[in-house]
Amino acid sequence: MKTYDILIVGGGIVGLATAYQLLKRRPALRVAVLEKENRVAQHQSSRNSGVLHSGIYYRPGSLRARNCLRGYALMLDFCREYGLPFDVCGKIIVAAEEKERGQLDQIYRRGLENGLPGLRKIGPEEAREIEPHVRAVEAVWVPQAGITDYGLVAEKYAELILAAGGDIFTGHPALRVVEERGTVLVETPDRVFLASLLVTCAGLYSDKIARLTGQDPEVHILPFRGEYYELRPERQHLVRNLIYPVPNPNFPFLGVHFTRMIHGGVEAGPNAVLAFRREGYSRWDLNISELAETLGYSGFQRLARRYWRDGLAEMRRSWFKSHFVKALQHLVPEIRSDDLTPGRSGVRAMACTPDGSLHDDFLILEKPGVINVCNAPSPAATASLAIGETVAERALQQM
Ligand SMILES: Cc1cc2nc3c(=O)[nH]c(=O)nc-3n(C[C@H](O)[C@H](O)[C@H](O)COP(=O)(O)OP(=O)(O)OC[C@H]3O[C@@H](n4cnc5c(N)ncnc54)[C@H](O)[C@@H]3O)c2cc1C
Repeated sequence: MKTYDILIVGGGIVGLATAYQLLKRRPALRVAVLEKENRVAQHQSSRNSGVLHSGIYYRPGSLRARNCLRGYALMLDFCREYGLPFDVCGKIIVAAEEKERGQLDQIYRRGLENGLPGLRKIGPEEAREIEPHVRAVEAVWVPQAGITDYGLVAEKYAELILAAGGDIFTGHPALRVVEERGTVLVETPDRVFLASLLVTCAGLYSDKIARLTGQDPEVHILPFRGEYYELRPERQHLVRNLIYPVPNPNFPFLGVHFTRMIHGGVEAGPNAVLAFRREGYSRWDLNISELAETLGYSGFQRLARRYWRDGLAEMRRSWFKSHFVKALQHLVPEIRSDDLTPGRSGVRAMACTPDGSLHDDFLILEKPGVINVCNAPSPAATASLAIGETVAERALQQM
């Protein structure tokens, strides 16, 4: 039986970026990725907005801010080097009403603190030169924001891993982890894998996998589904590129926005509603034991008590198109319900702490022989090469 130096559980964009960065640094390493689905990157990594985030939103100095800034630059170089489609089209964050100016200002200042060049506050006329149909009393122009296709990026990582001699085993869910005298043993339904070091990047199951390795991440992953609509082709002229609202400071999501997609078309969304299954992409997807686990978790109960109003508003937006349309009209008043057709959805893995807060940074835990990436929310797709670099370096230190 082949023994690997490093085994990675989770073939999403973070796990694959880690394997890619490891092999780039040490081509002789024996590296394998285990993925439970039949293809890589079938969950968060291909069901997202496809935005190249600039790093404007994140607390200066946080792992999210640092990895986003570095990851953004690495991602652009990667897309250029391998001919992957991307477009640095810029985005505007708009204060549609006077009362949103204060929050817009805070985001602007954060962007400056994070060192984003070219960031500018603009008035309503300039906002309408950029996006002719937007409603804005003021806006922030973020020139470095862009769009790409992270599913394609992840597939390219996979191709490069295989070309560098790494292995990728799809259809191999990790079920059990045992550590014995410096070797980690990972069981899948029909194989056992041995490695000197285990790295886990399991997205919506990252807490459970961390526990399998004997590490308590002290967070519980809550799945929040985000639903999108698509603009009908004849109304796509209403949005040129990316239009974002000022995020609600009391709510950990960016708010429904408009996104031009790299392969054409414009999406509106995503909202954020509790999913009744970790990888549940429709309203009817239910896993009773996963839902019971979520509802019974004291952190979730505290979170629900704190955000019940916002949560209800999100649910109304999910069930009633008219509420979704209203949120979009806040940004582009000409949008009508008929302009929108139901689109795809994605589920975000949000790490909740027992006190009912959402852990707002990347979370990477480590013990001898094991590194667990327990929280990699947005902008982890943008930042994937930087997170992969960080994890790869920690792994090499352990070897
Ligand atoms: C709706 C939405 C919009 C987003 N928009 C953006 C954006 O515009 N820009 C941006 O940068 N980020 C965005 N994000 C965030 C970004 O997509 C994620 O942070 C990133 O994809 C996380 O990657 P990951 O590899 O950690 O997780 P995933 O892509 O979820 O990968 C985890 C993998 O682990 C596998 N796995 C789980 N358990 C096991 C097991 N037991 N054995 C084997 N394999 C296992 C899963 O099948 C999965 O393939 C968005 C996310 C969502 C959901």
